[in-house]
Amino acid sequence: MCPHSRVLAMVKSNAYGHGMLPVAKALGDADAFGVAVVDEALALRAAGVMKPVAVLEGVFSAAELQAAAEHGFAVVVHQQEQVDLLAHTATRQPLDIWLKLETGMHRLGLTPDRADAAVALLRPRARTLGAMTHFASADEPGNPLAQQQLERLLRFARGHRLPASAANSAGIVTLPTSHLDLVRPGIMLYGATPGAGKAAFEFDLVPAMTLTARVIAINDVPAGDGVGYGQRWLATRNSRIGVIGIGYGDGYPRHAANGTPVRIRGQLVPLVGRVSMDMITVDLTTHPDVSIGDEAVLWGEELPADIVARHADTISYELFCRLTSRVRFDYAH
Ligand SMILES: *Cc1c(COP(=O)(O)O)cnc(C)c1O
Repeated sequence: MCPHSRVLAMVKSNAYGHGMLPVAKALGDADAFGVAVVDEALALRAAGVMKPVAVLEGVFSAAELQAAAEHGFAVVVHQQEQVDLLAHTATRQPLDIWLKLETGMHRLGLTPDRADAAVALLRPRARTLGAMTHFASADEPGNPLAQQQLERLLRFARGHRLPASAANSAGIVTLPTSHLDLVRPGIMLYGATPGAGKAAFEFDLVPAMTLTARVIAINDVPAGDGVGYGQRWLATRNSRIGVIGIGYGDGYPRHAANGTPVRIRGQLVPLVGRVSMDMITVDLTTHPDVSIGDEAVLWGEELPADIVARHADTISYELFCRLTSRVRFDYAH
């Protein structure tokens, strides 16, 4: 999708819950890896990952700065305290620095005048210096803000003759002019949709993760009885209710509503009743073929996490990141 840009593959937050080290090994074609904090970058190095690593929230102490310099991490500088830290702390190795510009999101970034001053201060210390920003709403194609943000970044980068980076996954798919020197895909690497009102498959993305659990009990519930905590769901007919061994203790979202789809034996069945710590319940009344021990897919290639997320009033990013240590991870490659 971005033939002219280098790729910084985002593996922060345990590679969006997929496992940072196996993912880093699988993404051997990436030019570099992106993490949020120095500890994540150190974990990559400790596991023998020697590709360039960028720390997107930057460093917050002289010790973190030295660690970054020693291990060759690129650091993002997004606020004046970091400019001062880098300007006043000598490091043995020169640094790769990305100046982050405030262009409209109002989260991280230097205002353009502060960024101008930072270029003057940091250029002498930098091995490489680049300019970057982050889109607030590139996932909404009609929203003019992304274009404005891009123009603000380009004005700054061209003025100082700096390489530039703007695009997250949403920027990659909705705004090709934002690809620039370096793209920073996250969610799309894991095969969920970057938004833009489209499903992942419409961007040719395939889910990397399949989350499964087994049916551990099946009960007959008479019409009028309720199921689970608070009896959130009441049987309106004599029902056959399956219990699946996964719950919010594994990272399945507790806010999943009645009707959230679960896939069993190739069919979608609705979640009924509240999600417990270790279990969920589904209505199998019209699926008499399902039996104890069957595998249920909570999300994966045949049931996009994006759809489950919508039923739980969240986004796929959060579903992935919230998987807990109780979930066993098996890697196909
Ligand atoms: C997490 C992150 C990304 C990736 O965002 P996606 O929406 O997952 O593609 C890109 N840039 C920065 C600065 C980030 O923090």
